[in-house]
Amino acid sequence: MPERRPYVAGNWKLWGTRAQADEYCRRLLTLLPEASRRPADVGLCVPFTALDVCLELLKGSGVLVAAQNMHAAETGAFTGEISPAMLVEAGVQSVVLGHSERRLYSGETDRALQEKVPAALAAGLQPILCVGETEAEREAGQTERKLRHQVGEALVDIADDRLADVVLAYEPIWAIGTGQVATPGQAQEAIAFVRALVASRSEKAATRVRVLYGGSVKPENAVEILAQPDVDGALVGGASLDPDSLARITAAAGG
Ligand code: PEP
Repeated sequence: MPERRPYVAGNWKLWGTRAQADEYCRRLLTLLPEASRRPADVGLCVPFTALDVCLELLKGSGVLVAAQNMHAAETGAFTGEISPAMLVEAGVQSVVLGHSERRLYSGETDRALQEKVPAALAAGLQPILCVGETEAEREAGQTERKLRHQVGEALVDIADDRLADVVLAYEPIWAIGTGQVATPGQAQEAIAFVRALVASRSEKAATRVRVLYGGSVKPENAVEILAQPDVDGALVGGASLDPDSLARITAAAGG
């Protein structure tokens, strides 16, 4: 089975002035082992206005910098939007797409993601595609149906040989920002299902694609979740605002 390097990404959401980003990055670098000794890749998903601060301070550190959204189009009458080429020009390596908060509050649709995911890959950005069910959907036994729909829709226009270039993040909505973390068993089961969905397109891609868990991950619960065989890392919201917590979760990826 090919090695899948764990990946721990901190999602700052609506946090991080340029001054806060500066202080955060300097502190994080004192806490992380050098890149070759890290048990996981590390990334920061930050607001547009803090991207250049993070890119400058993290240059050469191996810590990836991601935006939290982008538009699929290169240009046009889309006031307030940012294009894939704009992110690439700024030096950004990755972009979060389909976060449940954007689906809920900003009208992000599966249809839009169908264009955004290929547009990100075409521009040379690594998409981190978020999927996950609501509490009501889980209780109604609809988790797999929801995941099948979201993964299928977002990846339909991605060629099989590029599927593994997408990072998937299984983020049950009931666990995001609630402190109610999925059990390791729930995370494993859902993520194995997401991997099986990729396998239905390409077995080879399924063995290589990284699927992260997100939802109230903290240093205290990270070891058990990250030890699950199909869980390839974590997308961390609230806890990532403390660089010490993000560094400890990264260490937890090493077991
Ligand atoms: C997230 O923002 O993707 C997330 C998982 O948030 P939290 O860790 O705060 O639940």
